[in-house]
Amino acid sequence: MTEILGGPSLPQERKLVTAIPGPKSQELLARKNSAVAAGVGVALPVFTVAAGDGVMVDADGNSLIDLGSGIAVTGVGNSAPRVVKAVQDQVAKFTHTCFTVTPYESYVKVAEKLNELIPGDFEKRSALFNSGAEAVENAIKIARHYTKKNGIVVFDHAYHGRTNLTMGMTAKNMPYKDGFGPFSSEVYRVPTSYPFRDELSGADAAEVAISQIEKQVGAANLAAIIIEPIQGEGGFIEPAAGFLPALQEWATANNVVFILDEVQTGFARTGKMFAAEYSNFAADMVTTAKGIAGGLPLSAVTGRAEIMDSAHAGGLGGTYTGNPIACEAALATIETYFEDGLLERAQKIETIITDFFAELQKTDDRVGDIRGRGAMMAVEFVESGSKKPNAALTSHIAKFCADNGVLTLTCGTYGNVVRFLPALTISDELLLEGLGVIAEAMKVSA
Ligand code: PMP
Repeated sequence: MTEILGGPSLPQERKLVTAIPGPKSQELLARKNSAVAAGVGVALPVFTVAAGDGVMVDADGNSLIDLGSGIAVTGVGNSAPRVVKAVQDQVAKFTHTCFTVTPYESYVKVAEKLNELIPGDFEKRSALFNSGAEAVENAIKIARHYTKKNGIVVFDHAYHGRTNLTMGMTAKNMPYKDGFGPFSSEVYRVPTSYPFRDELSGADAAEVAISQIEKQVGAANLAAIIIEPIQGEGGFIEPAAGFLPALQEWATANNVVFILDEVQTGFARTGKMFAAEYSNFAADMVTTAKGIAGGLPLSAVTGRAEIMDSAHAGGLGGTYTGNPIACEAALATIETYFEDGLLERAQKIETIITDFFAELQKTDDRVGDIRGRGAMMAVEFVESGSKKPNAALTSHIAKFCADNGVLTLTCGTYGNVVRFLPALTISDELLLEGLGVIAEAMKVSA
């Protein structure tokens, strides 16, 4: 049998040869259920054997349209050629030394790139980690060390990870937090800006949040405010214009570190290298991960030099942080975003998705809100004639899509949002075919 390789050579087609999941995937699922902890759930139990650009191929030979890219990770496509080459070259040289024992250049190069690309006309430093949650943990650690204060402000609908601190910072109980407490103290949640539901201007929403911070926390106790520029797991909620700059201005005036969590929005995903570019301002610190390294585990904290340098030598690190294979993958990935025009491609994907659902909305008012940026788009589904969240329709769409060979992801505090996070390399044809299946799903729904 010939080996199936992923990447761009994979036929870009939706092709079902069995029901989903097919017999081989079902067999593997049974093994998974007896070998893997039940808490590690799967959204769609088709076992992957290859993936590239707009498709993933499963163990039964089905080729599914992938509208999730591993939750916004493989922006450059799965097994992107530059990434494959960089990883293969590095893996043959050395796989690990631990950067904090004996360093290597690729880590420094990634830090230099981040310092250059992340918005902010000031001197910056970066530190590398493995996961988004680990980056968030470290950003908080550094902000506390720098300000010598403890309080952390997070927002309604926020998602920051699954470690103990980041679970406490995340808003949604099920499935992320339920029964996993107690959580870290000194984490305070305030209202965000959610234009579709609160109908407030950015300035008014910021006033509500700031008033609550002043009354319930106090600037003198507050180390950092952390927010996603577009809230991901919470439902792709983009705050109204002016909300983020107002918060930042307040933070700066009160010796509070303003942190943007760009773990999901970063690296060309939104049509800019970083979503902050849409708000035209620079945070004190930015956390990144996901799209940084084409699927290799890597994350980063980048920020003002004086804040980042405040932690003592040895205070930051970890055995695997900034692994050399992941660093080489990151350099190849970043090059790919620019060389292959993927920022422009993300903007085109935004137009395709927006136009498609705007048309659908004309005849079906359950398409409540179409929002997002670039290839980070979502539709919030509501009950006809109201803004009541329609979680039943959302689950129906996800199931119908899976049965018909389209992998979609849902999100949102109310479970009523379908999100689109395709690889930026997906073709227009395949994307439109996937969206067409969603329209079909809506037709056959009650
Ligand atoms: N922050 C944000 C905004 C995220 O979207 C995520 C992951 N969905 C995380 C943090 C956590 O990242 P990881 O899963 O890599 O720990």
